[in-house]
Amino acid sequence: MTRSGTEPGTQGLEPVIGLEIHVQLRTRTKMFCACPVRFGAPPNSLVCPVCLGLPGALPVPNAHALELACRAAAALGCRVHADSRFDRKHYFYPDLPKGYQITQFSRPLATGGAVVFRTEGETRSVRVGRLHLEEDAGKSIHDRFRGATAIDLNRAGVPLIEIVTEPELRSPSEARAFLVRLKQLLEHYAGVSDCNMEEGSLRVDANFSLRPSGSDVAAAKSEIKNLNSFAFVASALEYECERQTRVRRAGEPLVSETRTWDPVRRETRPLRGKEEEFDYRYFPEPDLPPLLLSPAALERVQKAVTALPHEIEARLARTYGLPEEETARLAATPGRACYFESVVEGRDEAFARVAAHLILRDLAEERKRRRAPLREEDLVAAPSLRRVVELRLAGVLSSDTAARVLPLLVESEDQDVDRLIEKQRLAQVSDPESLGRWVQESVAAHPEEAARYAAGDRQLLDFFMGRVMQASGGRADPGKARELLREKLEG
Ligand code: ZN
Ligand code: MN
Repeated sequence: MTRSGTEPGTQGLEPVIGLEIHVQLRTRTKMFCACPVRFGAPPNSLVCPVCLGLPGALPVPNAHALELACRAAAALGCRVHADSRFDRKHYFYPDLPKGYQITQFSRPLATGGAVVFRTEGETRSVRVGRLHLEEDAGKSIHDRFRGATAIDLNRAGVPLIEIVTEPELRSPSEARAFLVRLKQLLEHYAGVSDCNMEEGSLRVDANFSLRPSGSDVAAAKSEIKNLNSFAFVASALEYECERQTRVRRAGEPLVSETRTWDPVRRETRPLRGKEEEFDYRYFPEPDLPPLLLSPAALERVQKAVTALPHEIEARLARTYGLPEEETARLAATPGRACYFESVVEGRDEAFARVAAHLILRDLAEERKRRRAPLREEDLVAAPSLRRVVELRLAGVLSSDTAARVLPLLVESEDQDVDRLIEKQRLAQVSDPESLGRWVQESVAAHPEEAARYAAGDRQLLDFFMGRVMQASGGRADPGKARELLREKLEG
């Protein structure tokens, strides 16, 4: 399923998709108490009277959580409000010891943002209705003890932001592309969360309904809860699209309901119907004053996030003519984009192409090999990489030897690229004497192949080129070597 109305199964109907995303903020302590936030600690070891909801305990808001929430709002282009409020949302659940969650309801921290992303060759902008602060609940563990549910309250009170999009997403794959961009913004541009989905730092609820194409009539809505991978989001939405289409075509009634995704059976299942929907009885949190931000604080928020990935991608494409796949990878983090731009500053498209290749292929490999979350500039300083690109373009380095210089630069104290190349004898060799010697050796060592070449098997030229490159330690100038080889084999 990709686009509405065009699929045979959804003729005349279009999907309407909205997302609610909960993101744990990267704070040291919880939202309203001083308990540490740490994933994987022994159960119920990170708790206190406040997050256990014991009588008489009073919440104190976490200033760092507020700062991170504001930064997230800035990255999503939201307006942060000078005056927002905390409310209580009541429901009973064993992992919610207070019997209510402190959240923001009628006056959220921020509203009116948008996320710009690329999908299927198209730029899309999807509006973010609101972003508010709240606390997480504990965790119910259903699979640890047979016939019993265990409760771990370490997560109770962990700071969250909830982000709600307008129902403007048009397909499951578009929802996924949106989420990839959102994660990038929060993790790397705002830097507010590790967004680790396996550890539950980012959880998605997805709303799905179908409506006649072009109409704005709201239809029965499925809300699929707690999706903890982007693949599950896409699969669950695809399943819902098929299911709702089937039900409608059979003329059966569709009901609004909350559903859950079963990744093993690959289907959604109803959790509860609309009539069982909780009445949360929101009311203002009496233990917390209004959340007021000074004009100076609001001004700081505006400046908290200076660059956005879609702007960087567009700039790189415009300035250096790089393909979309490369601009997206270069803008993955603002640090990488900045590194790239300082390497290629003032240079032309050819220079940028080589630099992009070295960063995205060779340096990325080196990062992977070291398995540390290293940034590019920690591996090779920008001026050194610039010199590597220059030497590559001048033909002193081949693509092979250029790649070999990078790990040497990472290891070496000496960041003088020219000296390193000299010392390691990596410079490309194009003098006819050395090339002639390698060609001579290679042909002499393989008389049988040389005879087959002479008999017309011209494809063997590549075989001999391989031998020459090997003999030269990758340093032979490939163009000149090929010329000499041909002369030798044919002459
Ligand atoms: Zn606590
Ligand atoms: Mn929530």
